[in-house]
Amino acid sequence: SQRVVIIGAGIVGTNLADELVSRGWKDITVVEQGPLHMPGGSTSHAPGLVFQTTGSKTMTHLARYTIQKLQSLEKDGHDCFNQVGGLEIATTPARLEELKRKHGYATSWGIDARLVSAEQCLDMYPLLNKDLVLGGLHIPSDGLALAARATQLLIERTSKAGVRYLGSTPVTGIQQVNRRVTGVITPGGIVPADIIISCAGFWGVELGAMVGVSIPLLPLAHQYAKTTAVPALAGCDINDLPNGKNAIRPILRYQDQDLYYREHGGQYGIGYYGHKPMPVVAASLGLTTDHVDEQNMPSRLEFTPQDFDPAWKLSQEVLPALQQTQIADGFNGIFSFTPDGGPLIGQAPNLDGFYVAEAVWVTHSAGVARAVAEILTTGGSQIDVSECELSRFEDVQLSRAYVNETSQQNFVEVYDIIHPLQPKESPRNLRTSPFYARQRELGAFFLELGAWERPYWYEANADLLKCLPAQWQPVGRDAWSARYYSPITAAEAWKTRNAVAMYDMTSFHRFEVSGPGALHLLQRLTTSDVTAKAGAMTYTLLLNDHGGIRSDIFVSRLDDNLFQIGANAATDLAYLAREARYQSQHSPSQWAQVRDITGSTCCIGLWGPRARDVINAVSTDDFSSKGLPYFSVKRATISGIPVTVFRKSYVGELGWEIQATAEYGQQLWDKIYKAGKPHGLIPAGRAAFNALRLEKGYRTWGTDMTTEHSPYEAGVGFAVQASKKEDYVGKAALQHRAKQTPSRRLRCLTVNDGRSMVLGKEPVFYNNEPVGYVTSAAFGYTVRKPVAYAWLPGKISEGEAVEIEYFGRRIQATVTAEPLYDPNMSRLFN
Ligand code: FAD
Repeated sequence: SQRVVIIGAGIVGTNLADELVSRGWKDITVVEQGPLHMPGGSTSHAPGLVFQTTGSKTMTHLARYTIQKLQSLEKDGHDCFNQVGGLEIATTPARLEELKRKHGYATSWGIDARLVSAEQCLDMYPLLNKDLVLGGLHIPSDGLALAARATQLLIERTSKAGVRYLGSTPVTGIQQVNRRVTGVITPGGIVPADIIISCAGFWGVELGAMVGVSIPLLPLAHQYAKTTAVPALAGCDINDLPNGKNAIRPILRYQDQDLYYREHGGQYGIGYYGHKPMPVVAASLGLTTDHVDEQNMPSRLEFTPQDFDPAWKLSQEVLPALQQTQIADGFNGIFSFTPDGGPLIGQAPNLDGFYVAEAVWVTHSAGVARAVAEILTTGGSQIDVSECELSRFEDVQLSRAYVNETSQQNFVEVYDIIHPLQPKESPRNLRTSPFYARQRELGAFFLELGAWERPYWYEANADLLKCLPAQWQPVGRDAWSARYYSPITAAEAWKTRNAVAMYDMTSFHRFEVSGPGALHLLQRLTTSDVTAKAGAMTYTLLLNDHGGIRSDIFVSRLDDNLFQIGANAATDLAYLAREARYQSQHSPSQWAQVRDITGSTCCIGLWGPRARDVINAVSTDDFSSKGLPYFSVKRATISGIPVTVFRKSYVGELGWEIQATAEYGQQLWDKIYKAGKPHGLIPAGRAAFNALRLEKGYRTWGTDMTTEHSPYEAGVGFAVQASKKEDYVGKAALQHRAKQTPSRRLRCLTVNDGRSMVLGKEPVFYNNEPVGYVTSAAFGYTVRKPVAYAWLPGKISEGEAVEIEYFGRRIQATVTAEPLYDPNMSRLFN
């Protein structure tokens, strides 16, 4: 088997060794700079609270597996998890609502949870101040990880299975040849390796720097303190519980004040996120070898009591029994934060064999380790970890300034109530399309994604609401779904369906694949035959080895050896570029290269029944269905500007994506805008776009479907070309899956009352049982109802009634045949 070196023997590294060795990998070495009995990283002092439920299905499932694993790790009859349950309390009406939303997440992701009244909170937790608590969320399966003990048991177990551990051995460099790792350098010599996985926790940046890989994490100190013995707990004998399981009451979160609590025997542990962010440079801490104990370890900085003052007062208020205590021991403990709060998992884009599993909480540690082990051993993980991919960040998001600012922001907001559309306040305006100045003039409301500013609607269209026909008038919304929303969206949808609108498509990823091996590369990676002659465009899928959907892309053949890809994410670029590199190395005559052209180009989606009138007014090229049939592409000229025109539409109306290089952008916008005015053209934003695409049934990868789903389940089986002879990634697995009847399917739901909005991730009930969850949702202006896509069991058929739970309220919906709009494609083919 491959020679593996894992750097770091914290909770992540030791779990990974375990997950790999249990899958039959034999040659595994773990190199740890600290002493093995107490390495001194974040794990060594982690209080180990495991609250599983978040808005992310992935993170919740990674946590759920971590608990299972900790419960299976036993010695002397005692496992490594103390399942005391988790209680989150609300002390504000907004938090009470938020807990309802969170209860919905738990239901969606299959975690047993219950909303409890203030009285029930007090029954469960008598120490709480009854005057403050309004209610809570109780999750019985949450609890405390005994992380340091688990690490020791894993070292013991894996050592017996043949894993080598090198303690007190810092990795000082990474050896590489031709962009492939060959070993790690230590003071004792080189440890050879085919695969290196850096599980170095908050030292990740330093490890990355050894190989020129930017690791977007920021180590921050976070305050944790233990009180003296709480007199009110005297006689409870919590201290007598075995093996460090010195807690009996639920772990407690008081998010309204950025606080959490656990018991340590008769003492209390208090964690605080309300203090100012305290960034740390790991390199400045020096390397440890053997002087590590509970009080002295590199991840433990001196306590700064003044920063803890507010926490102490608030704690004595919410848990009055603490007024009889003092702080016995406090420290500023270091762990990692990232720009989006997620962990970093995966292979470095430009160095083969170098993987990371960093910025991982104890909560997700075993889940992450299993996912990495599955990816290494089988080419895909059962839990989709795309949102954790190291390569998910755009270049600008890897700059230290960006990482520092956004990671600190994440620390500040860690317990805040965040709306799904809520944008960062800063940094903003990092990436703007060439149309930006015009969009501002038109009153665009911008939200940010991938550091791009993207218009959601234009205030310039507000007047249209006055002339909107009655059946297009927007319906009122509840306060939550009305955030980051404007009724102007209805007018923009109306104009797109009835006249013509222009959409800024610049932020969508565009790559160029070129070289004599370009065709072979795409044939090898996609589910379609893309050999058609230049001018053809194909909607196709990238799969993983299990036949799960890695991405959905548009492949346009521009020339024999030149293709353009319309993709979803930076992860697509990393994947395609890596595969191109492999291919070029293995068969040099079939070299291919992949280039990101997103920022050097711009793109306008011109769509609507009058789109042809507009384009004919600015170009003499032939844009008839003969001159440019649906799903084809050609070069053309618009008002003298060289463009590439793609005949496709996300919104389901006649039209094109018109692409030019960036320097022509503003001209292109102005010419089309001016020519379009007489035909009723308006600019329209993402909000209308999203509503129109859902009416048309177009899926969004990452939201509606992921690597966990097969094309048949996700309703994109049409993008798998059965007649394709060549082998491609995932083909064998897919052929197997094609024979099975899908046990679940992505379904279209419409809301019966025509007005109740949902936003995504809400649980769906069938016969009063939770059976699935919503992926995307929007108000369908053409069909005059809210539309939601949801994963449901395969047995539920069209016409059946379901309920969606939104903030604890049940909304009646119907499983409906899709697409809702123009199933015959008559709008697109004319
Ligand atoms: P670490 O435990 O830091 O392990 C990384 C290892 O890599 C270290 O042992 C280090 O010595 C080694 N290493 C680094 N560089 C090198 C090198 N060059 N050569 C060799 N070895 C190297 N998480 C929760 O889920 N719940 C909580 O309640 C919780 N509370 C926390 C409270 C505090 C005060 C802190 C600080 C953190 C808390 N966390 C919590 C976070 C959690 O502790 C960490 O995210 C987790 O322990 C990280 O595990 P790890 O294995 O990735 O990193």
